[in-house]
Amino acid sequence: MAAFDPPAPPSPLPVMDALALTVGELRLVVGSDSRALALKRILMAGPLGALPSKVAGVSESVLAPLRPSLALPRVRVTSTRCADDGATKWAMEFGDGQRSETVLIPSRTRATVCVSSQSGCTRACAFCATATIGFRRNLSAGEIVHQYLVARAAAQRAGLEATNVVFMGMGEPLDNIDAVLRAVRSLTDVFPGLSPRRVTVSTSGVVPPLQRFLKESRASLALSLNATTDEVRTRIMPHNKTWPLGSIMKVLREATAERPRRFFVEYVQLPGVNDTSEDAGRIADLLRGLDCHVNVIPHNPFPGSRFRAPDRDETLRFHRQIQESGLTGIIRWPRGRDVAGACGQLALRTA
Ligand code: SF4
Repeated sequence: MAAFDPPAPPSPLPVMDALALTVGELRLVVGSDSRALALKRILMAGPLGALPSKVAGVSESVLAPLRPSLALPRVRVTSTRCADDGATKWAMEFGDGQRSETVLIPSRTRATVCVSSQSGCTRACAFCATATIGFRRNLSAGEIVHQYLVARAAAQRAGLEATNVVFMGMGEPLDNIDAVLRAVRSLTDVFPGLSPRRVTVSTSGVVPPLQRFLKESRASLALSLNATTDEVRTRIMPHNKTWPLGSIMKVLREATAERPRRFFVEYVQLPGVNDTSEDAGRIADLLRGLDCHVNVIPHNPFPGSRFRAPDRDETLRFHRQIQESGLTGIIRWPRGRDVAGACGQLALRTA
C-alpha cells in the first residue's frame, strides 16, 4: 500500500442469527460480559420484531454499528387455535413465506412448548400428517427459538412458566442438526435459562447426526421407535431401511458406555400393526441394558391416515404389557387433537 492511500474501511460484520447467540458469543461482539448479558436478556425477553431503540446496559455507540448485523427472524403468527383441553397451536409464517406450527401444552404447574425444526419434513413416516406435505426447508436456530418465545409469552399470560421444550413438532430435528444444536445452546444459556434436562430432541433415528447429537448436546433424547421389527418399521418409517433398528440401538449403547444417561422412547400405537403382546416383549429386548422411559402415544388420525386411533382399552392393555416386560413409562394421551395439534397431526391445516 502506498503511504498516501487512505485506510481501508472496516469490513462489515457478517449477519448473525441474533436469537441463536449465547452470552459467550455476544461477548465477542459487544466486548464485555455485562453488555452481552444485557443484550441476551433483551433478545430473550419476548418475541421481538426488531431490536428496541434502547438496550439498558449497552450504549447506543456500541450498539448502533452492530444493529445491521444482529438479524432477528421475520415471523408472523398467521393463526392461533385453542383446543378444548387447554393446548394452543400457532401457525407461523417466515419471511420467505414458508410456514410451520408450534404447540403449547399446559399442565397444572408448568407448560411445555413443542417446536418445529423444519417446514414440512425430510422423512415420510406413514402415521404422521407432516409427511403428507413434504419437505419445504430447514428452520434457522433463531426461527426455532422465536417459536419458544411466542409460546412462552402466552404461557406467562396464563400464569405458567414454559419450563420444557420438546422438538416434536414438524420435521426431523437431526436432519437440521446445526440449527437444532444452536437453538438448544441458546435456550439453555443464561437467558432464558432452560435446564438441558427439560429440552428434549426427538428423532426418528437418523444415525450419523444422532452420534453427533449425543456427543455434543446435554439435552435429552427421545427416540421415536414405533416398531419392533425392521420389516414393520421400514413399512411405516421408510428410512429404517438405511438405519435399521440394530444400528440405532448400537449408537445408544455406545453413548451409554461413554456416559450413563436416560433416553425417552416414544411408541406411536397403531392398532393391529405394532401393538401385540409380542411387540411389548420385543421392546424390552431391544432396549435391554439401556435406561429408557417408554411412552405410548395412541395414534392421532388425520385426513387420509391409513391407521385408526386405538381405543382406550387397547392402549391401556398395550401399556400394561410394556410395563409387565419390566419397562417404565407413561401413556401420552392426546392433547390438542381438536385443533389438529396433537402428536403427528401438524400439517398446516387451517380448519
Ligand atoms: S414423525 Fe417426525 S420424522 Fe416422521 S414424518 Fe413426522 S415429523 Fe417427520
